[in-house]
Amino acid sequence: MENQGVNYFVEAGKRAAEWHKHHLEEMRRCRFDTIAVHGIYSMQEALDFNQGSLIEPVYMSTSQGYRNSDEMEAGLGYMIPTWCYSRIANPSIYYYEGVLALLEGYGSGLETSCVATSSGMAAIQSAVDPFLVEDPKRPGAKMNFVATTQLYGGTFQQFAIRKDQERNIEWRKVYRSTDLDEWEKQIDENTRFLYGEMPSNPSLSFFDLEKVAALAHKYNLPLIIDSTVATPALMRPLEHGADIVVQSVTKSLATSGFAISGAVIARKNITSNIDNDEMKADFCAYLKLLPNRDNGPNISPMSAILALNDIRTIRMRMDQVSTSTQKVAEFLENHKAVEKVDYLGLSSHEYHQLASRYLFLADSELDPHYGKKVNRYGHLMSFCVKGGPAPTRQVFDAFQRIYRATDLGRIKSVATIPAISTHSQQGEEGRKMANIPDNLIRLCVGAEHPDDIIRDLEKALDSLEGKKVSFSSPEYSAGGASSAKLQK
Ligand SMILES: *Cc1c(COP(=O)(O)O)cnc(C)c1O
Repeated sequence: MENQGVNYFVEAGKRAAEWHKHHLEEMRRCRFDTIAVHGIYSMQEALDFNQGSLIEPVYMSTSQGYRNSDEMEAGLGYMIPTWCYSRIANPSIYYYEGVLALLEGYGSGLETSCVATSSGMAAIQSAVDPFLVEDPKRPGAKMNFVATTQLYGGTFQQFAIRKDQERNIEWRKVYRSTDLDEWEKQIDENTRFLYGEMPSNPSLSFFDLEKVAALAHKYNLPLIIDSTVATPALMRPLEHGADIVVQSVTKSLATSGFAISGAVIARKNITSNIDNDEMKADFCAYLKLLPNRDNGPNISPMSAILALNDIRTIRMRMDQVSTSTQKVAEFLENHKAVEKVDYLGLSSHEYHQLASRYLFLADSELDPHYGKKVNRYGHLMSFCVKGGPAPTRQVFDAFQRIYRATDLGRIKSVATIPAISTHSQQGEEGRKMANIPDNLIRLCVGAEHPDDIIRDLEKALDSLEGKKVSFSSPEYSAGGASSAKLQK
């Protein structure tokens, strides 16, 4: 092939980008389920480039080969759409990012973009770090950020240890996130962003997103929301004013539980007091091409496609697991051995009213079964067992269907005791801040029939009255040394 010059490829790149932009516009006009199912993978792309493959191919390759030095120069100079090296970009990862950007922006009319990360924690780190840079106008001033204390345990540690303790960046804590004054009085000229998780894991805290977003913007700050528990099927923080959303895609979005995965999704033109126009114009494109290129929190193409495959059914699953969880929560609320049940769908919950203004099943008004907007509250709930940690462990140990694991969002029901697992590292004081007593069991109801989950819970709770629950199981699973031990 004769060299036609860099410009030849730049022109071809422009035509391709134009085509993709047009295709994105078409997808943006589709309904939620259509977007979730097809994402940004087009029939044209399937037929012309992927041998007609119906499903997005897994491009398990570290890098792209170029036709010649001109194309390489155009690619590496970010002058054409390219995937040069999988730490930066990859076609499979591109499909994953595309669907998440569209789903988080659904119904908002906003232009959104997404950058994939290897985990939810990497998404949080990627989302907050670009703001934690020194202000040249205030050299040496101690930076801070304002964030709620009701957070996932890993986030709590990232903020308390990695940021506050190790980097001397002050975490200004909001204890009661519904109190707007508490947020506001922590903000000063050295604040870089506001951060909240809602609903929070596991305590299901909730705040008035629109009011907190307005507060952030009043001070020229971005609002970052961890929306893992809701998923875009139930709530899309960007349409309520948030600038950036982080997702642990690992959880409900990728319910099968094959791999860890994360994402940052942002609106175009975010608010920030940092003097960096490129970052503000398209935050995720900036992350992808610069900081994340240099720091390397990229996802594997395999994990991206595995997650993508689950994302297709997110709306219908969140509908089903939400109605099941409602039933389970109502059962537990009426059980005499249960001290308290936390589920946003229960009218007894402190934030039920507030959550009901934000959590709706996407497109339910178009569903012939519903015909109107219906609230759905997700599948995360928790309950406290009467009598303290010992009976709590006894109930927990008696589950025969519900898995004991530090996980959530699974297609199978999973439970944990946060005080001895996800939230053990932050200590007793930290748990008090996050509202996590030691008799609390976090339960995430899967897609089993709810009656079978209720039966498992009932038997486990009955064990407190001395009714024996026999857990008959081989000591270890089949395979390897453990099964040899059983055969002795
Ligand atoms: C699990 C979780 C995270 C961390 O995500 P990983 O994918 O495990 O790194 C962050 N936020 C919330 C709310 C989570 O539940």
